Amino acid sequence: MTLTVIALGANIDNPPERIKEAYVRMSEISRLTDLTLSSLYTSPPMGPQDQPAFFNAIATCQYSGEPTGLLNELQSIEHAMGRVKLRHWGERCIDLDIIQMGEQLIHDIDLLIPHPSISERLFVVEPMIELLGADHKVPGLDDLGTLRDELKHQSISLCQDIDISGATVA
Ligand code: AMP
Repeated sequence: MTLTVIALGANIDNPPERIKEAYVRMSEISRLTDLTLSSLYTSPPMGPQDQPAFFNAIATCQYSGEPTGLLNELQSIEHAMGRVKLRHWGERCIDLDIIQMGEQLIHDIDLLIPHPSISERLFVVEPMIELLGADHKVPGLDDLGTLRDELKHQSISLCQDIDISGATVA
């Protein structure tokens, strides 16, 4: 079993609902247990500015399969939910990225773990702190609290008025 961190993001087609839907679909992945979802956060788009704000959350779980197996499962969910790549860093109804798998370091052409976005995106670090604590470490990086300090100029907001707890999986 490996502690695994997955980032969920969306900015079209009712993003909070799409994040809930992806979370429920993730709960059906075999060899994946102990799935937990963070609060929802919103932030301005990082790429083209002529698109809606993004909504993001983090899920943690235990996964006992291969990293490429998990990537395939997540890409199948994106596909089943109708994800279409319109432009780089552009709008999407769902984006699922593997952020961390325990102490594993993977540098394949189609799979980078830890995901390089961690040290660049407060909307990844902040919900990770919510679930794992500021002392948590990702291999090769400072602890999450230090990363948060370095990213504090970025603007993200906790969506207190949007309830994604309905995504809780028994
Ligand atoms: P994106 O536009 O963020 O969905 O990027 C999708 C591409 O990123 C796919 O071709 C994946 O193979 C690649 N990729 C590399 N590392 C990861 C990762 N850790 N999690 C998800 N996708 C990844």
